[in-house]
Order: sequence, then C-alpha cells, then structure tokens
Amino acid sequence: MSRRRLLLAAVILGLIALFFAFDLGQYLQLDYLKAKQAATEEFRRSSPLLAGGLSFVGYVLVAALSLPGAAIMSLAVGAIFGLAWGTLIVSFASSIGATLAFLLSRFLFREGVRGRFGDRLRAIDAGLDKEGALYLFALRLVPAFPFVVINLVMGLTRVRPWTFYWVSQIGMLPATLVYVNAGTQLATLTSVRGLLSPALIGSFVLLGIFPLIAKRAVETLESRRLLAHWPRPAKFDRNLVVIGAGSAGLVASYIAAAVKAKVTLIEKHKMGGDCLNTGCVPSKALIKSARLIAQAKRAREYGLKSIEVDFDFADVMERVRRVIRTVEPHDSVERYTRLGVECIQGEAKIVSPWSVQVGTGSGVRTLTTRSIVIAAGARPLVPPIPGLAETGYLTSDTVWDLRTLPARLVVLGGGPIGCELAQCFARLGSRVTQVEMLPRLLIREDSEISEMVTRQFREERIDVRTSTKAVRVVREESGKALIGEHGGQEVRIPFDELLCAVGRVPNTAGYGLEELGIGVTPARTVETNEYLETLYPNIYACGDVAGPYQFTHTAAHQAWYATVNALFGQVKRFRADYSAVPWATFTEPEVARVGLNEIEAKEKNIAYDVTHYALEDLDRAIAEDERQGMVKVLTVPGRDRILGATIVGEHAGDLIAEFILAIKHGLGMSKILGTIHIYPTFAEANKYAAGIWKSTHAPQGLLRWAERFHAWRRG
Ligand SMILES: Cc1cc2nc3c(=O)[nH]c(=O)nc-3n(C[C@H](O)[C@H](O)[C@H](O)COP(=O)(O)OP(=O)(O)OC[C@H]3O[C@@H](n4cnc5c(N)ncnc54)[C@H](O)[C@@H]3O)c2cc1C
Repeated sequence: MSRRRLLLAAVILGLIALFFAFDLGQYLQLDYLKAKQAATEEFRRSSPLLAGGLSFVGYVLVAALSLPGAAIMSLAVGAIFGLAWGTLIVSFASSIGATLAFLLSRFLFREGVRGRFGDRLRAIDAGLDKEGALYLFALRLVPAFPFVVINLVMGLTRVRPWTFYWVSQIGMLPATLVYVNAGTQLATLTSVRGLLSPALIGSFVLLGIFPLIAKRAVETLESRRLLAHWPRPAKFDRNLVVIGAGSAGLVASYIAAAVKAKVTLIEKHKMGGDCLNTGCVPSKALIKSARLIAQAKRAREYGLKSIEVDFDFADVMERVRRVIRTVEPHDSVERYTRLGVECIQGEAKIVSPWSVQVGTGSGVRTLTTRSIVIAAGARPLVPPIPGLAETGYLTSDTVWDLRTLPARLVVLGGGPIGCELAQCFARLGSRVTQVEMLPRLLIREDSEISEMVTRQFREERIDVRTSTKAVRVVREESGKALIGEHGGQEVRIPFDELLCAVGRVPNTAGYGLEELGIGVTPARTVETNEYLETLYPNIYACGDVAGPYQFTHTAAHQAWYATVNALFGQVKRFRADYSAVPWATFTEPEVARVGLNEIEAKEKNIAYDVTHYALEDLDRAIAEDERQGMVKVLTVPGRDRILGATIVGEHAGDLIAEFILAIKHGLGMSKILGTIHIYPTFAEANKYAAGIWKSTHAPQGLLRWAERFHAWRRG
C-alpha cells in the first residue's frame, strides 16, 4: 500500500475508533431519539439551516465511514424535518455518503483485492457489463444486500462513480421514503426492525427485479419480433439441424441423437472436417515421422553408432493418408447414422430461422427444424500479399497433397500451425525459413517459452526470421522469392514452395447469415452470447466459426452447450464455461498451457507468484536424455490457488492434464504435492513444481517455532 493510502486508511480507522471510543452509537438509538425529540424540534425551529446542515453532514459521515446507524438517522431526519424536507436531506446525504464510501473502497482496496481476487470479481463485473445500471439498481432495492456492503463491494468493481451515484440515489429512494415517513411518526415507533414488514420487503424485491424482468421481457419480445418476419412452419420435421460435420458438428449431432432428438447433420465436403482431413490428424501423423528422423540423428547420444534413415517423402505423405483413413470410420456417415443421426451430403443454407435448404447432387431439399447449430468451421487466412496468388502457395488445406519434398520452403507465420509444420519439413530435409511479422514465435506464450522453441528451431537449422514483414512475392529467372522487410531493410528469401500459416478465418459467408442479419464480430466469428446463441433464440454456433478458441477440444466443449441450449434452452440454459481452457503446440519441445501465463496476468492486472521446475533435474528426463523443458506455474500470492500453468518438454500436452483438473476443480499445489506420482515418470515434474511452491510458501513463523520445539526436545 502506498503512503497516501496508508495515511488515509489511518485517518479513517482513527475516525471509526473515535466513534466507538466515545460511544457515539448511543445517540443513534431509537429511545435516545424519542427522549430528545422535543429538544431537537426546538433547535430546528430556532436554527433551521444549521439543523439541516448538521443533519446532512452527520449523515454523509456515517454513510461514508460505513458506520452503523444510517437507518436511525433517516428516522431522526424524518422526525425533525417532516416527509418532504426529510426525504430530500436523506436522499442526497445517503447517496453522497455511499459514493464517498465507494470511492474510499476503490482507492484503498481495489488494486490489492483485484490483484488477489480479480477473477472472482469478474462475475460482478460481467453482471454490470451486461445489465449495466439495472444490476446495481436491483442490488439497491433487494434488502438482502446491505447498504454498506454494496458501497464497499461496488468500489472494487469497474462501475463508474457517476453511475454508482445516480443509480444509488434512485434505487434507495423507496426505502428512504419508508424510513423518513416512519420518522414523522417517531412517537408511535417501538422498533426499527418492524419498519420493513415482509410485505414491504416483498414489494422492494419486486421493484428491484422488475427492471431485470422487464429487460428479459423486452429481449423475448425483440426475438419474437425478429422471428415474426419469417413464416413459421405449422410443424417441424426435425428438432435440430447441424451445419458442418467437423469436430463441433459431429459432437453436436451426437449429443442431440443421444437425447433422442431428431437431428440432421449436413456436410458439404468431408465428414470429420478440418481436424481429421487437414488439421490435427495429418499434422500429428507427419510430426511422428519427422520426429523419428530427428531421433535417429541423435543416435550417438543414446550410445548407438548411427541409425541409417532412408525414406521417400511420398511414402511419408502416404502414411499420413493412411492414418486419416484409419481414423475416418470414427467420423463416418455409417457410424453417425448408426448413432441415430441423419447425415446429408450437401451444402446447407439457412433460409429462415426454421428452415435449411440443402443442395445435394439430386436437387435442393428444404428441411424444417426447431433449432439450428452452425458449426461451419474456419479456413486458412491468405493475406493480400502482392504476387502471392500469381506465384502460388500452400496452406494447411493443400500441403497434404505434396508428394515431392520442397528443397526450400518458406513458412509464413510463427503460430502453432506454422511452428509444427516448419519443424516437420526441416526434419524431413527441406531448407526452411520461417517468417514472422511479430518479434517472437508463439507470441501468446511467455517470452522464455518462445525463446526455448526458437533456440531448438535454430539448432535444427530452421532460419527463423522474426520481426520480418512479408511485403511481396516475386517470380524471377532463378525461381521464386519472398521479399520481406526487417528493421527497415529489404530482405530476399528464395523458395520453391511457400506455406501460408498466418491464421484461420471463420466461414461466415454464403450460407444465410447475411440474409438473416446474424452479425459477425471484429474477429470475424459469428456473433453469439455466452450461451452460444446468435441473434435468433433458436440458432446457435460453436467451434471455429464461433471462436474465440480454434481447437478441436474447445469445438467439442462448445458443441455440448450449443446443443443442450438449442434443445432445452426454454427450460434451462447453460453458459459456456471457459474457466480452464488448455492447448498444446506439438513442436519439440512441446508447449502446453492452461489458464493464465505471465503476459495475460500482467494484461489483466492480476498479481501472481511464479514457480519454476526445470526438467533437467528429473530422473526420467535424464534417463531419456530429454532434459529440455520446464513446468511453470502461476499462483495467487499468499494463497494455494493456481492461476495457470505452462509446461514445455516431452509429453507436455499430456502432463498439463493434472493442472487442467486442478484449475477446473479448484485444487491447489498442496493437493498435487499430496498425490502419489509414479516413479520415474515425466508426470513427477508436476509434483516437484508443487514441492518448490510449498517450500517457498512455507509458514516461516511456524517453522521457527518448530525449530525451537525440536531444540527443546533435544534437551
Ligand atoms: C494444421 C492444423 C493442425 C491442427 N492441430 C490441432 C491440434 O493439434 N489440436 C487441436 O485441438 N486443434 C488443432 N487444429 C484446429 C482444429 O482442427 C479445429 O479447431 C477444429 O477442426 C474445428 O472444428 P470445427 O467443427 O469448428 O470446424 P471444421 O472442422 O472446419 O468443420 C466445419 C465443417 O463445416 C463444413 N461446412 C461449412 N459450411 C458448410 C455449409 N454451408 N454446408 C455444409 N457444410 C458446411 C465444412 O466443410 C467443414 O467440414 C489444427 C488445425 C490445423 C489447420
């Protein structure tokens, strides 16, 4: 805490201490008020301005310092000044006092509390962002939330002081009227408690939640009005139509069939979508072959003279095809039909909120449906670099068709896909130059992690060019070249093939979104709310097309929410839960993460402690000569709460599972430390990281006592 804050806190504590030391609370009792009623009325008659001013300032002080007695003061002001003037004084004094308490809480505590419990306050912030002033208004009116608590807690949130002030003034008015009015009948009052009868409390609650109910009603009416533009079928052929049979669409239709809904899955290209055909499956198959080559090169490290590697690139790519074919039955029409899903091969177009047209080889069919799940995925982003279209390029969609290894390959993009493929091709024998506009590879990860990957890449002779912007592509007599810009200088990178891996753009055009007015976000994903619902209450989106993540496991995760909300939303809706989203980049070293890293914690102004454990000390890593890597964990300072974990090294994508579970279920480092891990495994690294955390967070005071105890026991 800064000195200014400490000083202010000391002044406030001093004032509160004086209040209790001089027992000022005795003057804020009903009996005292009654006894002094005649004298105070006399004072008001003789000096009305002074009486009004003193009441106002006294009230502001009590409210600002969060002292007990605001209710009694309202009665007193009512008794002295009557209903009209009393209400005016109390209404302004209580709102100003509340705002001062709010500002004090913000100044003194917000930084510290947000640092520690920022993620917990997010729920309140989200409520405020979503419902705005109505949220605070409801809190003000519902008596379950005390005046003082609201002032202090709101000070910790993002709400603006002016909004807090005026909403408080309006929201507290009904209760002010009740108390001031009761004050005018002071002589007949026997207790303050009885003032708010159950009926009155009920009315306040209704008044408080009415605006929220009204808002919901407006939203419902709004969506009804939207739907009213479209002819509604008298009957629906289906409960659900799912557009796209990638990871998201397959899971969505599976869930719908499992709960006995009539569901149709429409796919225009290949069942399995991106992951099976051009994404996770082929890339991991290629990574395995490339890894074998890299390991063979390390034969000497393992006590072998050499391992002869002889291969044909076309055979490697054929194996990739075989792997796809082996997994294909899992995502096939046959399997899904057996599960109860109607599968249609064709291009879907939403023609109304209740009907989807499918263009198939045998004509156009129109299906009517209660709900629709859009799972149309994403495609490689191709930046508008002059000359690129003319010279030709590869993407993650087309690279799998290569049968001749490019001698010189430029990989454009330093994200996960670019990194995985750059390393594969380098290991297979291409001379790879990786070009990244940003200053680091894997920019979302902490810089030390990018450095570890970059170091390894450079050791494998990948020419990593960061802070290099692709300007144009040219075709020359000697071949093709990428012209880039680095530090204001032009650089020329000759290549035989260029692989474009600069991101993936959601598929949002050409299947009815524009006609229905369904919006697209700045990130070009379909606009949805936290229930994955689009503008229309019966149309949902999930997977790459909905974002914000672009992974198979997040697509499947979202598919559950989209489907359950689409089928049962009228009864109960579920907010998509992103509390523990993990991912991995399958380079060597492998990088896996869940929760916050340092970059994000700093961006979100969340305080953290860092614990590192280096794999070079791990017995299994030493035995396997795979000592590169680490476990890095962010925790809440002074508390056993994990904010995030990054693992780099062998099996990082598997090892991170323990932290995903821990974060998801609120388990701390002590729980990981107290769990038996098999010796000797890489998983032990998690336990050792927890051990380091424990030793750096040991209660030093207690240990000093333990030391004294043992010394005493020794005699
Ligand atoms: C090289 C690469 C490696 C990857 N590696 C991993 C990894 O290791 N781990 C991971 O989690 N993720 C990985 N991903 C990402 C992962 O593949 C995607 O996040 C995931 O496939 C998204 O699934 P989806 O269902 O949202 O979309 P998609 O799989 O793209 O499916 C969408 C489907 O919708 C169909 N479609 C679109 N419009 C229509 C229409 N109008 N009518 C009918 N059908 C339509 C498309 O043909 C497509 O089949 C990788 C991606 C790439 C490119």
